[in-house]
Amino acid sequence: MTEKKVIINKGWNLENSYARLPKTFYTSIEPTPVRAPSLIKLNQSLAKYLGLSIDELQSEEGVAILAGNSLPEGALPLAQAYAGHQFGHFAMLGDGRALLLGEQITPKGERFDIQLKGSGKTPYSRGGDGRAALGPMLREYIISEAMHALGIATNRSLAVVTTGESVIRESVQPGAILTRVAASHLRVGTFEYVSQWGTAEELRDLADYTLQRHFPGFDGAKNPYLFLLQQVIKRQATLIAKWQLVGFIHGVMNTDNIALSGETIDYGPCAFMDTYDPATVFSSIDTQGRYAYGNQPHIAGWNLTRFAETLLPLLHDDQEQAVKLAQDAIAGFTELYHCNWLAGMRAKLGIYNEEKQDETLIKDLLSIMHKYGADYTNTFRTLTFDKLENTVLVGTTEFEEWNKLWQSRLSRQEESKASSHQLMRKSNPALIPRNHRVEEALEAAVKHGDFKVMERLLDALSHPYAHSPEQDEYSVLPSQSAHPYRTFCGT
Ligand code: AMP
Ligand code: MG
Repeated sequence: MTEKKVIINKGWNLENSYARLPKTFYTSIEPTPVRAPSLIKLNQSLAKYLGLSIDELQSEEGVAILAGNSLPEGALPLAQAYAGHQFGHFAMLGDGRALLLGEQITPKGERFDIQLKGSGKTPYSRGGDGRAALGPMLREYIISEAMHALGIATNRSLAVVTTGESVIRESVQPGAILTRVAASHLRVGTFEYVSQWGTAEELRDLADYTLQRHFPGFDGAKNPYLFLLQQVIKRQATLIAKWQLVGFIHGVMNTDNIALSGETIDYGPCAFMDTYDPATVFSSIDTQGRYAYGNQPHIAGWNLTRFAETLLPLLHDDQEQAVKLAQDAIAGFTELYHCNWLAGMRAKLGIYNEEKQDETLIKDLLSIMHKYGADYTNTFRTLTFDKLENTVLVGTTEFEEWNKLWQSRLSRQEESKASSHQLMRKSNPALIPRNHRVEEALEAAVKHGDFKVMERLLDALSHPYAHSPEQDEYSVLPSQSAHPYRTFCGT
């Protein structure tokens, strides 16, 4: 029985399918109360989508729920157990500062995990304090919502509350709790955990649960567990291609941070690339560049191989056959990813049909951009609007030659120049959450309690393909002094 006040109704419509899984998969535990909750940011459109009442969420009782001081009716809070390969090394992990309240069933009948991040210690906290600081929670809010608007699968952010308590990081920071909304928090690391410490039956339970939750076509499949592997591979191939196409660097692609739903999760040290360089790394702890921009597809394949290994006992009774099935499926990832990337790059260049030489054309442009230190997002924007004078590439022999080849390539398709422009407009964002603008918004909010800068930024980021004149200011590049930009984990 809960000690907390339970808040009835108010739009919450929670189910607890995860809590019906074997007890080894999680620990039931309530959020640790905080002193003085205050609502900083509420995602009104997401709240509506979830069937929640905005007025109720903003009320004292609603904020108490978002702070973990009360529970909505139907919540069965739990910390999920998982393991993971962190920078290549296997470790036992689990929700160290997050709790799943339950699964909200939306008016449309969809199911979303509702998770509080920063809600206190759990048995998986190891040395951590179970808490989160305001700056990083607002940062996650901004970037995850920007990703959603860019059309990239992601967990979303419902609300940020401050706790009225301080957290100690490099300095003393205001504490905060973020409410996250995700298709689920099933990860590669969840399977690694059960494969390492669970029984054969538990592994099957987990695989069946994942199939039912995310891959409804499984009942027609000859081998449902091979189907699971193939579908997870397919979703990762789609996701990572989208990251590459917008220049998103996740920063900590450990297997515990790879969601089986195909959503982007775990916004820690992530950031968007400005200048095009495949070696770009922002995370202060990624000293070897394991998770560099250009390495993300390779790492995704590595992570999927770890996932496939956990499924071996389910794929076939004969071990050799199981390995063969897994290897064949994994081999498909590279090709799938590549097709998605190539299709996306063709669209970024306004190309509708396919020619063999397209890949060379694309790679040539990227290597010229690399050589001259061109901005990734703005180069494609400049090409979209034919404002070539705005790029550092103009006037270089390489670019002039490339441009001629591109123009002649465009003329070898039925679609008009105007259609190409339309395709480019919707394939090249006008703006991304540039690091210096995100930092500026966070500084105003955290240091000065001024949330207007963040609100304006969020508004601009919510229409990344609008290409409206008001957005122009957000495509201005950072000054040299803002380089190199560094990001941090576990904040
Ligand atoms: P991450 O790098 O965010 O994927 O986190 C790795 C692990 O550390 C996960 O198990 C987190 O739950 C845990 N963790 C991160 N920060 C904290 C914290 N402040 N308190 C407790 N656990 C944490
Ligand atoms: Mg994580």
